Amino acid sequence: MSKINYKSVEEIELIRESSLLVSKTLGEIAKVIGPGVRTIELDKLAETFIRDNGGIPAFLNYHGFPFSLCISLNDQVVHGFPGKHVLTDGDLVSVDCGVILNKYFGDSAYTFAIGEVSEQTKKLMRVTQECLDLGVAKAVVGMRIGDIGYAVQEHAEKNGFGVVKELVGHGVGLQLHEKPEVPNYGKRGAGTKLEEGMVIAIEPMINAGRAGVKFWDDGWTVSTADKKVSAHYEHTVAIGKGKPDILSTFEYVDNVLKEKNNN
Ligand code: MG
Ligand code: MG
Repeated sequence: MSKINYKSVEEIELIRESSLLVSKTLGEIAKVIGPGVRTIELDKLAETFIRDNGGIPAFLNYHGFPFSLCISLNDQVVHGFPGKHVLTDGDLVSVDCGVILNKYFGDSAYTFAIGEVSEQTKKLMRVTQECLDLGVAKAVVGMRIGDIGYAVQEHAEKNGFGVVKELVGHGVGLQLHEKPEVPNYGKRGAGTKLEEGMVIAIEPMINAGRAGVKFWDDGWTVSTADKKVSAHYEHTVAIGKGKPDILSTFEYVDNVLKEKNNN
């Protein structure tokens, strides 16, 4: 097991820049995502936007992953392939994006509703975002990895949802996936101590139904075993003193969606 790479203040600023480019890319996706759009078009848009801004799509060719975005539809949890699927009213689409900028990675994900989704799906989206917020709130010096997982799990399960255990958050830096692992479940006060210089991706993957997942033979796609929908939100966060330093932001997505709803 490799050890945790603690980051200097300068390195954290570089990861902030990478995370900001990820956040802006998700904002660009928010502008165009909707009924009638093929998911592969979103992938091309992201790749172009990232490269135009001096970055490299981090997922492209990562252990052979063939796209710039992971686009996971409905019962897909994570690591879905963009493709010919035309988005239609009622689809739930998780878009996960990573970039490399100045050698440092940034990683963030957002789940979009296409048109009108069911009340249960809306609740899943809201609760999963709340799980992310509750997990992020624990990303402070003095807490432990288990405190993050506990906060996420407790909120999801109290709402009747299933917490995916097979996939976890992770450290972020010069590598996309560094130590420590950041599970979405855990015990309060257990696990690695959170200290200044740690940068982690917190990414609840929450299922509307049961927690179980299925791994596809494409080597990547993960879906729910019970075929119910799943949501995924992710931020890259630096452990802070007293409060977390959230390096990615949903501000760009939120502004676009607000604008869209007003029209
Ligand atoms: Mg991600
Ligand atoms: Mg991640």
